[in-house]
Amino acid sequence: MKIQKLSPHEAQKIAAGEVVERPANIVKELLENSLDAGASAITITVEHGGKNSITVTDNGCGMEQEDARICFERHTTSKIRSVTELETVKTFGFRGEALASICSVAQVTITTKPKNFLEGIKLSIEGGKLRQVDVVGCPVGTTISIHNLFYNVPARKKFLKTTATEWGHIVSLFKACALSNPQVHFRLVHDTTIAYNCPPVKGTIERIAQLFDTPLTTHIVELSIPESSDIKLSGAVTTQQYARYDRGGMFFFVNGRWVKNYQLGQAVTKGYLNVLSAGRYPAAVIHLELAPHLVDINVHPKKEEIQFLNPRTVQSSITQAVKTTLEHSLSQQLKRTISFATTNTLVEPLFQEIEDVPSFPPFSLQSPSNTSEFQGFSSELPVVKQAAAPKIAAQDKEFATVIDQDKQEALDQEYSVVGHYHNTYILLEKQGSLLFIDQHAAHERILYERFANRFEPLATVRLLFPIIITLSAQHLKLLEPHLNLFEQNGISAEQIGDTQLAIKATPVFLKDCPIHDLIDQMLGWIEELQGIDPEEFYKTITEKLRAQMACKAAIKAGDSLSKEAMEELLHDLTKTKNRFSCPHGRPTSWELPLLEVERRFKRKT
Ligand code: ADP
Ligand code: MG
Repeated sequence: MKIQKLSPHEAQKIAAGEVVERPANIVKELLENSLDAGASAITITVEHGGKNSITVTDNGCGMEQEDARICFERHTTSKIRSVTELETVKTFGFRGEALASICSVAQVTITTKPKNFLEGIKLSIEGGKLRQVDVVGCPVGTTISIHNLFYNVPARKKFLKTTATEWGHIVSLFKACALSNPQVHFRLVHDTTIAYNCPPVKGTIERIAQLFDTPLTTHIVELSIPESSDIKLSGAVTTQQYARYDRGGMFFFVNGRWVKNYQLGQAVTKGYLNVLSAGRYPAAVIHLELAPHLVDINVHPKKEEIQFLNPRTVQSSITQAVKTTLEHSLSQQLKRTISFATTNTLVEPLFQEIEDVPSFPPFSLQSPSNTSEFQGFSSELPVVKQAAAPKIAAQDKEFATVIDQDKQEALDQEYSVVGHYHNTYILLEKQGSLLFIDQHAAHERILYERFANRFEPLATVRLLFPIIITLSAQHLKLLEPHLNLFEQNGISAEQIGDTQLAIKATPVFLKDCPIHDLIDQMLGWIEELQGIDPEEFYKTITEKLRAQMACKAAIKAGDSLSKEAMEELLHDLTKTKNRFSCPHGRPTSWELPLLEVERRFKRKT
């Protein structure tokens, strides 16, 4: 006889595969059990992407000893009594299968104690069999630990992916769970490092701020729902300014349950039509509320796939909500940009003026790096330059004290602004030559020198609402010893928890600049410079930070400037040290001598 009935245990191992494919599935089942148990705080600890161990601790209702002893057997559930209750079930679990499946393919310990009990119970289970029971002291709630996943199913163990991949799945699952339960305190620990710590918050937007990187969190807006919407929707989406190369930033929930559904992702992306190019995706967190009879969540044993009775209505409601949200956010942004443009004058003089201005005539092209074909002509002009030098130096001294009074007159004697080219270069006529000033490079240098040579603390603004920046725990650890560097440069940053920084004040110059970019760059430098001499490290990183602050705060290429703004910039430049190059080494000015122009027109040879 060839056909044999499998022993129940072997059959269970095979069945377990339906629910337990990978560590993230276990985390999901355990989290759902904790939520079903009414927990308000849940900690997940995993080792090696969950391949070595997974532990979930909650402060939920716990189990009485008799319940605990059978909870890991098949079809044991406290959540329904009969199939007729399936229609109305509100809990995540109801099949009574998860713990049984997990216990059949791993070594498990369950420690649990309900409220008002003095003692808890600890069960050790291996291969689905109860090996040991101890009465223990423990807090109210349940801790379930899983070791050696698939130790008895080598075929499945082989299919586990790299630690990074398995960890990635756990993170997605964790984010989904945290997003749909903002009232619960979630922690996720990986190999002794706290990856996420999310205390309870009011809603989706705050939860997003705890979970995602800064580019995403700065571009997220709450979903605006059109009044005509057929479906109850809520959530948040990223604005037009944000895009990513994968769909991993989209999370959908139906009646609180995380679901994966390709059509829902498409419906969101459709809302960005003509805004995001092909292959680029937004991020979105969308909650749908539907009467239970309009959805079938039962199509998949892991309850992830979902079918809608009216998929079209659901999709079009989502697309419409996304469109409305984007239009709304765009009009808000335009309003903001207009008010910014009308108040955006050049930086007010916030610093003491520099006294020891070198006696160079402004903007003459002397740097040997300018090896253009015109260089020969520069050397034809030495007499002019030397003659001009003492005069300018005297004026500089005057500017240092009486900045505003005769500024206009004094500048006019030396050069005149003849135009603005490509909204990037200020054109000057000076002693017969045409001078090009790169407005961004010039402003960058001015600001850099101000940062570097100030005698007083930087003028800063206290932010009404601190900017919250979310980083990975590793990055924050790396940054933390250097926060004083930010402080010295006017950025007051305070660590909150293990993954967040609150930016409470910034230099006045930087008040409209993306501080998170600076922080990301700083992290890059810290990583790059690690191991070098501490003094050198400090010096280099300070220089880089100041250069980057100057770069962020400086007017940009392409910004249109009024004549007054151009003149103010030029005036400041004449009084700046190292004015011939920007902090990154690019030239700030370039000179086209008259002789060269005349040669081009064959007036002279
Ligand atoms: P289901 O969740 O479908 O009921 P499970 O196998 O996941 O089935 O769990 C079986 C039972 O064990 C649950 O119905 C519940 O009574 C109990 N249980 C599991 N995990 C916990 C927990 N973290 N806290 C309290 N009770 C739990
Ligand atoms: Mg369950």
